[in-house]
Amino acid sequence: MPTGIEYLDETWNVVTGCTEVSEGCRNCWARNRAASLAVNPKTRDRYEGVAEFDAKRRPRWLSVKCHPDRLDDPSHWRKPRIIGVSFMGEMFHPEVPEAFIADVFDIVEACPQHQFLFLTKQAGRMHRVLMNPRAQTMPLHFSEKTGEPLPNAWLGVTVENQKAAEERMLFLLDTPAAVHWVSYEPALGPVDFTSISIIEADSIGSMSPAVSLDALRGHVRGPDDMIAKLDLVIAGGESGHYARPMHPRWARDSRDQCQAAGTCFYFKQHGEWIEVDDSAHGRAWNRYLRSGPEFPNTGYFDDAGRFWALRSPRDAIRMLKVGKKQASRMLDGRIWDQLPEVAG
Ligand code: SF4
Repeated sequence: MPTGIEYLDETWNVVTGCTEVSEGCRNCWARNRAASLAVNPKTRDRYEGVAEFDAKRRPRWLSVKCHPDRLDDPSHWRKPRIIGVSFMGEMFHPEVPEAFIADVFDIVEACPQHQFLFLTKQAGRMHRVLMNPRAQTMPLHFSEKTGEPLPNAWLGVTVENQKAAEERMLFLLDTPAAVHWVSYEPALGPVDFTSISIIEADSIGSMSPAVSLDALRGHVRGPDDMIAKLDLVIAGGESGHYARPMHPRWARDSRDQCQAAGTCFYFKQHGEWIEVDDSAHGRAWNRYLRSGPEFPNTGYFDDAGRFWALRSPRDAIRMLKVGKKQASRMLDGRIWDQLPEVAG
């Protein structure tokens, strides 16, 4: 399926359907799109029973479906593509059988011309399934020939705030992969990728005190305790009718952290909201303010980074809802579209 996602050429939806797991799911675009596709005669076979609109036209997930009939699709795409795997669902959902996940990685291995981007919020299950020592002699996403992680399988997790990073990052970095990546979208709060508090459990399940993980350098506690590191951070604000604003500082901070560590940074979008530079946009801002406090498209971030709608103190960062297109994907005057170099 063609994609509106800037960094992908294609989506390969071998799994459709999902279940909400955290605040980043509140305005899930995939759920909305799946509910629309379920009533489209051309796509009904894939999405009927997966999602629907309720009586108030709110989309909801109904089930998770695997589509073995689509497994072969990438073999027919001759030109190399960057492919999002099951972006209309959750590849590592508990209802997706391990055998099906193994089939998906068999196709990844059989199609070295493509790059396959896996992205999950079920980081714990991804780690358990791929690294399960009882189920296989080698992790499911390793090459039979080399005994190494498949060079064209990128493993990623979504984090919307620091709490999500704390819950998911260690599972990601403890799973070997050719490329480890993070989708920091929708950015709903700041994330310090250099200092993620994690709690480790030992083999009998005892918890140790929290330690700090620098995900950009792969340091746990410090430089002498190494784990895999992130190769790519993709950041972006939320889009859609109910989009929540992203503080531009969150995007700038993650970019600066990446640049300091030598990690690729890709800025996908501001989302619907943009910071108002009073010198450049003062007239527009004043026009909206004059519309009165009931006007829904204005607000501000206070010094603590909290967003308040309908107010406009002089010393806060002022935000205006202008739409995704106008908000653009420029950050400080340029496009950030760094991606890791991959084996060709
Ligand atoms: S995990 Fe992703 S696809 Fe699933 S509900 Fe949340 S945002 Fe939507």
